[in-house]
Amino acid sequence: MEEQAVVLYSAPAIGHLTPMVELGKLLLTRQPSLSIHVLLPNQAYEGGSISSYIAAVSATHPSITFHHLPPTSLPPDYSTTSPHLETLALELLRLNNPNVHRALVSISETHRVRALVIDFFCTNALSVARDLGIPCYYFFSSSGGGLTVFLSLPVLHRTTTKSLKDLDTDTVLRFPGAPRLLPSDIPELVQDRNDRAYELLLESATNMLMASGIILNTLEKLEEETVKVIRDGKCVPDGPTPPLYCIGPLVSSGDGGKAGSGGGPGNDKPECLTWLDSQPRGSVVFLSFGSLGVFSAEQLKEIATGLERSGHRFLWVVRSPVTGKGHKAVSTAEPDLGALLPEGFLERTAGRGFVVKSWAPQVAVLHHGATGGFVTHCGWNSVLEAVCAGVPMIAWPLYAEQRQNRVFMVEAMRVALPMEEVVGEERSVSAAEVEQRVRGLMGPEGEAIRERMQHLKQEAQAALNPGGTIEDHTDSMDSMMSEARANKASPKPV
Ligand code: UDP
Repeated sequence: MEEQAVVLYSAPAIGHLTPMVELGKLLLTRQPSLSIHVLLPNQAYEGGSISSYIAAVSATHPSITFHHLPPTSLPPDYSTTSPHLETLALELLRLNNPNVHRALVSISETHRVRALVIDFFCTNALSVARDLGIPCYYFFSSSGGGLTVFLSLPVLHRTTTKSLKDLDTDTVLRFPGAPRLLPSDIPELVQDRNDRAYELLLESATNMLMASGIILNTLEKLEEETVKVIRDGKCVPDGPTPPLYCIGPLVSSGDGGKAGSGGGPGNDKPECLTWLDSQPRGSVVFLSFGSLGVFSAEQLKEIATGLERSGHRFLWVVRSPVTGKGHKAVSTAEPDLGALLPEGFLERTAGRGFVVKSWAPQVAVLHHGATGGFVTHCGWNSVLEAVCAGVPMIAWPLYAEQRQNRVFMVEAMRVALPMEEVVGEERSVSAAEVEQRVRGLMGPEGEAIRERMQHLKQEAQAALNPGGTIEDHTDSMDSMMSEARANKASPKPV
């Protein structure tokens, strides 16, 4: 019998790659004879080295094969006024179609390719799949709330001529199934309709409707109302919405692409986990800001002061500061804690606080019994990891779609207290706000969220258990893929 394959096409960011690989693992649990092929664009990966991640996955899952696509380059006369790094990544991905075509044809020589699953950054590959007669699915690696906003972009584009950035700051935006949002909550990439990034993402949102299905990494019980609204087609009033498969929470058990990190050498137990062993149950607030989150030196001092004044135990991942108003850096040097933190801070908080340089084993920390709260940048993988571990959150968004995630987390999902920034360009947070929010989450104010997180943790477990919703959705997606594929011809080699 001809071997069957599913091909996954990832965007160049570790936070996009890891859930997609988890999807591959999930498909393998349903059908162990399947082979999974992951296409990797030849671009710098944001937020971690992928080589150690790929090595770890390849060692444990021989049915998953990684294909590095050849490099692409922009024409020498290319220029853009877009201020976003992602614009270049999107442009380079557009040039990848011949490479994706070749890879699919080559895999088809030995396998029956049942589906191409693409990241929403890789939208151009939809046409390659169509040319080859392969069903194409979109993988959306953020929240259901984020998906309603994304699917609504073409409608928004038609109903107003203004860019989001030019709307009054208190304009209330209403998206089906989502709480009210302000223009500044919407990701920066789509704030300006004259920006190339806006154009490319609008194209992606439009293309998504032509896909055979949308795969969403969420726990249905976490976003029940939102998921229902999407399924009912309310985000796309003038045409059908592709079938939606909620296969979450798909979280990586690994280290997000950085091996041997977290304060301990090699494979030894990281020092921060040993430290947690000596802390009382549910007493520690964990602060971690994704693979790219960074602060200014002044902001680090404010956080330190707030933590110290809160009187609570904490485990804090600190990176070297950046200058300017950015909150995102691909890599930074090891921080000099003595110089960065307020004088005497480490000594005064010794015993009740632990500072990790640059990177912590987040999933293990969240699942440790001593961890009782999580100050997060609202990256979607982090949110799902906290849900699986049942840890209540404080939402402090820094970049990408995190500001809208904060609104969803606080108002719709009810899993977090908001961290409020000082209004202004810098969006800084005062020591008093850190102190107050940490006290709030760890005290009576956090009780309702704690209870909800315990409930959601059980729901996540139930979804993941045999016979749970993840299995249901994977099976129906799987049978859709086989049916769709059975009706299409095999691609011809080029
Ligand atoms: N992560 C980690 N240790 C750290 C910081 C991040 O293991 O010190 C992992 C985290 O567990 C998550 C990923 O990196 O799996 C970050 O993904 P997320 O979607 O939350 O944020 P992004 O980095 O994409 O902004």
